[in-house]
Amino acid sequence: MEYRTLGRTGLRVSKLGYGASPLGDEFGATDPAEGERAVHCASDLGINYFDVAPYYGRTLAENRLGAALEGRRDKVILATKCGRYDVNGFDFSAARIRRSIDESLARLRTDYLDVFLAHDIEFVTGKQIVEEAVPTMRALQREGKARYIGITGLQLNLLRRVAEAVPVDIVLSYSRYNLLITDLDDLLTPFVKEQGIGLINASPLHMGILTAGGPPPWHPASEEVRKAGRAVVELCESRGVRASDLALQFAFAHPYVATTLAGMPTVEQVRQNVAALSAVADQALLAEVRDLIAPIKDRSWPTGLPENQDAP
Ligand code: NAD
Repeated sequence: MEYRTLGRTGLRVSKLGYGASPLGDEFGATDPAEGERAVHCASDLGINYFDVAPYYGRTLAENRLGAALEGRRDKVILATKCGRYDVNGFDFSAARIRRSIDESLARLRTDYLDVFLAHDIEFVTGKQIVEEAVPTMRALQREGKARYIGITGLQLNLLRRVAEAVPVDIVLSYSRYNLLITDLDDLLTPFVKEQGIGLINASPLHMGILTAGGPPPWHPASEEVRKAGRAVVELCESRGVRASDLALQFAFAHPYVATTLAGMPTVEQVRQNVAALSAVADQALLAEVRDLIAPIKDRSWPTGLPENQDAP
């Protein structure tokens, strides 16, 4: 396993990180015993970054990950989040964040987090994130409950504006840097790199679109983007390449992202995705993928997700 430094935190994180949202059955029902084996397999193969949130399965994923990591806490870099609790359930108030971290610590069976992130910040005002959420998280850091703090979300401009307004250690972006879309680098990477902020890229498989199994029903992408994903998967299959391998190899090659988080509820997926690390992407096939998706004008997210209301 290769490790990279997560910005100024100095944390050495595995190039492939473990995304635990499928353990909360976010992508369909999973077998809890298999999920536990997947976590153990990931840890045994050198994956040391584990990302979860109270929102995933409405606490189910934290409970399952906490149980699976029992006895391995000192070997992992453990990240969870606060502020999002349901599809439309958000609370970034100081009181809720304080309660949230204690609840998460109990579910995760530990007394500190390595990373604590404000989850999907575009759903509330930027002012609240800057003036209430992040200062509360900093206070919890000083109290020893979290080593580093940061923000997550889909709106790259907002992530940048918040990080400009209040210092954060880490930014997690999702579905913004993969075979279908790379606007992470236009809107966020130069800024976080200059600031030494650690950058995490989640959803390298575009939340399932770049897999043979396809996306879950709730996936917010347009039909055009789904179709593009299917075409990419078919192209890869016709070349005898697994689309998830090509997609991961593309993401791993990013020069600044420290860890790429993939959701992996089964041992087979962990093994496949770790194996993908040992080769580089087939450049000719990547060029074919680029040609294939080029005619699709809008591969961004015209999907009803909120644009942020007020800049901080
Ligand atoms: P992803 O792009 O990693 O896709 C996950 C899906 O792909 C799952 O259905 C999984 O079973 C499947 N998959 C993985 N490897 C496969 C393989 N080899 N073959 C076939 N299918 C495979 O999307 P994701 O899970 O949403 O993102 C990864 C992680 O990043 C999440 O689990 C979560 O921890 C984190 N994340 C955070 C945020 C946020 O903070 N706002 C948003 C999105 C994701």
